[in-house]
Amino acid sequence: MNIPFNKPYLTGKETHYIYEAVNSHKLSGNGIFTKKCQSFFEKNYGFKKCLLTTSCTDALEMAAILIDIQPGDEVIMPSYTFVSTANAFVLRGAKIVFADSLPNHPNMDCDTLEALITSKTKAIVPVHYAGVACDMDVIMELAKKHSLFVVEDAAQAIDSYYTGKDGIKKALGSIGHLAAFSFHETKNIISGEGGMLAINDEQFIDRAEIIWEKGTNRSAFFRGEVDKYGWVDIGSSFLPSEIIAAFLWAQLENLENIQTKRIEIWNDYYNKLKDWAIKNSIQLPIVPNFATNNGHMFYLTCQNIQQRTQILEALKQSNIFAVFHYISLHSSPFYTEKHDGRKLENTDKFTDCLIRLPLYFELDVEKVIDTILK
Ligand SMILES: *Cc1c(COP(=O)(O)O)cnc(C)c1O
Repeated sequence: MNIPFNKPYLTGKETHYIYEAVNSHKLSGNGIFTKKCQSFFEKNYGFKKCLLTTSCTDALEMAAILIDIQPGDEVIMPSYTFVSTANAFVLRGAKIVFADSLPNHPNMDCDTLEALITSKTKAIVPVHYAGVACDMDVIMELAKKHSLFVVEDAAQAIDSYYTGKDGIKKALGSIGHLAAFSFHETKNIISGEGGMLAINDEQFIDRAEIIWEKGTNRSAFFRGEVDKYGWVDIGSSFLPSEIIAAFLWAQLENLENIQTKRIEIWNDYYNKLKDWAIKNSIQLPIVPNFATNNGHMFYLTCQNIQQRTQILEALKQSNIFAVFHYISLHSSPFYTEKHDGRKLENTDKFTDCLIRLPLYFELDVEKVIDTILK
């Protein structure tokens, strides 16, 4: 039997809620299920305001509009990330300044950030790789000192936390001015395609709703705050239909169950591969003391590209489909010419050496572990 890289998990209630949405005769966005999902996140994670979007990519694009990125503005982010992190800002004319990863973790090396800040820098976009927090104290202090915005790419970071120097445990996505989440089928909580913008800085709430509703004040109109609605700003069609929100609601009701299972699988991988990894000079994931593990991803960092190819091939022989990812954005066909030429050695190492193992609710993790050990 094949073990695919990912298998979307269904709680069983998805089609039930979709049926309900369909029968309510309200299929466009911002209905009952949308509101249920948004308040779930606001209540449980301390995000000031949440807006569901059709993807994390869309939420990042909204963030770039909200912080008013202009041509020539500079935005600092890791090179080892998905294209959307950068694209959202490039669409508004920003120049991306890539930070290197840490030597032992794909997250940005926060000690290198201050040297990248110039008079044109407008924002820092930390990506919490594998749902493991970046050192947000350092990032928020830099942002304050240099008057920058922080947009968390929390695509992988649902239900994960950061404990800073003040000792308070904060949900990822609740710390930056804005944050973007993904419910793509490869993430922990899914709706096929889907995402969410979390707004923590209140100055952005009203405008975010307008941008979300195609540049109109339709939301304020439906609340009875204005007596007609019209075109008041730029915007786009960023809100998902009620059908998507209904699917997502079924997932959110089962969030605890999904998270427990994923973390169990992650721990199995970790504990049973530990000795093998040491023997083969392979690095297992690191979770710093200030961070939590949300069971999003289990990955190996191999010694070199040859060892990686060997492991991927051996797994494929047993019909187990592991993958690698993130061709560094600074050396991508689209951005090489635009990059300032700095070498990013740690980023390149993860591009060459990282393997993601299958991780999904119904995974037979013992079979993957046995195959690796063999
Ligand atoms: C998945 C992912 C995205 C994109 O999410 P979509 O919902 O597919 O747009 C962006 N950034 C990171 C780090 C991701 O992992």
